[in-house]
Amino acid sequence: MIHNTANDAPAENEVAYMLRNTEEVSFHFAVDDREAVQGLPLDRNAWAAGDGTGPGNMQGIHIEICYSLSGGERFARSEANAAELCARLLKQYGWGLGKITKHQDYNGKYCPHRTLDLGWERFLQLVRDKYDKLEEDDMTKAEVEKIIADYLAGLGKKNASGWAEPAIADCKARGIMVGDGDGNFWPQSFVTRQELAQVAAKLAGLTDQDR
Ligand SMILES: [Zn+2]
Repeated sequence: MIHNTANDAPAENEVAYMLRNTEEVSFHFAVDDREAVQGLPLDRNAWAAGDGTGPGNMQGIHIEICYSLSGGERFARSEANAAELCARLLKQYGWGLGKITKHQDYNGKYCPHRTLDLGWERFLQLVRDKYDKLEEDDMTKAEVEKIIADYLAGLGKKNASGWAEPAIADCKARGIMVGDGDGNFWPQSFVTRQELAQVAAKLAGLTDQDR
């Protein structure tokens, strides 16, 4: 649930003020142009919606956007940071953008006043943009597979350790393990069970010949 502080104090001061007074006025985060400051744990309710024991106070995560009294560039940056925080919380809880509400929805108070003046849909779009950006930052399955494939290919290109070279030469000469057919032995690559079975069958054949 979005609020504006209707004040010109930074987030740190808003939270410090909330923590030292005993009034039933509280919120979870205050966000300014530099940071988001948390004042309450998210499993505690805040008193911010003016709806008594209604869903606003009981269930809302309340975010106060700072510097709304005078507005300007400082407020614009605070709003952008609040949008980022909203996007991250939605993502963290697996919620859609439909979970974002404003104080006004609960008791009619014209809050967040400056965000509403500038356009509520515009703010929702800010959150949507940040949310989409977070989605892009997540790796896809294909990207993870590419990282693994690149790692395995990198292993294959590593040279044999000196101590292993005579054994590799011996295996190649006897045709027990010959590599990929293009002369690449891939000495540091992993062996699969099917490749091991081939080697085992060849060894068994050679042993039979010796009898
Ligand atoms: Zn409010």
